[in-house]
Amino acid sequence: MRTAVVVGAGIAGLAAAGALAREGWRVTLLERGERVSAPPTALVLWPNGRRALESLDPDGGWPGIAAPLPDGGVRRPDGQWLVSPHTRPGAGPAPAVVHLEDLYDALVAGLGEGVEIRTGVEITKVRAPRAARPAVGDGSRLLEADLIVAADGIDSPVRRALAPEAVAVGSGFAAWQAVVPAYRMPALPPDQAAGGETLGAGYRFVSMPLGERAAGRGGVYWVATAAGAPRPEPPATQLALLRRWFKSWHAPIGELLAATRPEDLVPQEVRELRPLPRAYGFRCGSGGVVLLGDAAHAMPHHLGQGACLAFEDAATLRSLVATAEPGAALGQAVEAYDRARRPRTASVVRQSRRMSAVVQARGRLALRARDAALSSLRPRILGYAHGLAADWQPPD
Ligand SMILES: Cc1cc2nc3c(=O)[nH]c(=O)nc-3n(C[C@H](O)[C@H](O)[C@H](O)COP(=O)(O)OP(=O)(O)OC[C@H]3O[C@@H](n4cnc5c(N)ncnc54)[C@H](O)[C@@H]3O)c2cc1C
Repeated sequence: MRTAVVVGAGIAGLAAAGALAREGWRVTLLERGERVSAPPTALVLWPNGRRALESLDPDGGWPGIAAPLPDGGVRRPDGQWLVSPHTRPGAGPAPAVVHLEDLYDALVAGLGEGVEIRTGVEITKVRAPRAARPAVGDGSRLLEADLIVAADGIDSPVRRALAPEAVAVGSGFAAWQAVVPAYRMPALPPDQAAGGETLGAGYRFVSMPLGERAAGRGGVYWVATAAGAPRPEPPATQLALLRRWFKSWHAPIGELLAATRPEDLVPQEVRELRPLPRAYGFRCGSGGVVLLGDAAHAMPHHLGQGACLAFEDAATLRSLVATAEPGAALGQAVEAYDRARRPRTASVVRQSRRMSAVVQARGRLALRARDAALSSLRPRILGYAHGLAADWQPPD
């Protein structure tokens, strides 16, 4: 039987492990945490992400956990529209927002019986010489397989060993995410309940309603970003700072922050890989090692594409290795994965960095240029970015 070791049980690892198991692989999924658990946040699935999930597991019940993403437009802190809400063009699945607890539950359910999960295992080593079977180790054991899938996030030790040129660096800003459960939400008029995006000088606030049953609680997801380093203070102080920074911003931003509790807050530094790895596939022995998700292409989150690309990675890998037997065929599939994924992800990363520069603009001139770009050149900026996202189709 073909064997795979997947390192990391985040979104990328869970998606890849389930997909390989459904193709008849025997999969061992390794996670350094004591449990497989989702952060208490949410994310947007753009059309490419939704297509990838459907192709990974048509029986995954994805529409049931995703709520449609309203187009709340883009505003200035005083509430003036930079881009008014509009109907999104294009065919295909509409963008949707999903609570990560629901997404993880669905991905774990999709693992079926073919995946052995081992938690509390932190991989520190990878072995990938051309002539031997690939393997990973945690310092006390070495696990060999035909295929090693490194889905161990931006600090991936596997990537650091195989592609040391790709370094995780700060993107110059910090992010705070939270979900305010429905029972704690103030009543909002419909235009405010739709959420939306607001851009200030170096600050950004985005909110969106979750489905009524999201994580059993419903509610509203918000994400705020601010230029600079992450804050060292405890969550209660950070929340107090956020309330101060966004104090004069239009409703319902103050209301959302007031309804948020320190324990809801997920603060983090936003980081990316620079440069991207020189390869995502390393052929060796009877197969090789592939990089997936943030381990391969962590980027600033402003286009909301990191997880969507991870699902694309997993769908592409599944299709390439579905019928490949260990030996020449699997080695070729590993190389084909690299050829298929690097150009695609590099172009989304480029767009993401551009978008990041636009939305994090500071200084009077930069802000004027940003506002002009958003109101008059919008189709070239947002339109292209959304086109990129919508265009991707699963390999089969
Ligand atoms: C503020 C913010 C908003 C975002 N919004 C969106 C959005 O709307 N849409 C979207 O598509 N994307 C979004 N993203 C990006 C998305 O969250 C990430 O791209 C995605 O979660 C990456 O998943 P991953 O599985 O590759 O990595 P991770 O989530 O980092 O998972 C890696 C897993 O590997 C484990 N691990 C790490 N090292 C080891 C080791 N040595 N041994 C064993 N296990 C290990 C970790 O414990 C973890 O479980 C956003 C990101 C941010 C910061």
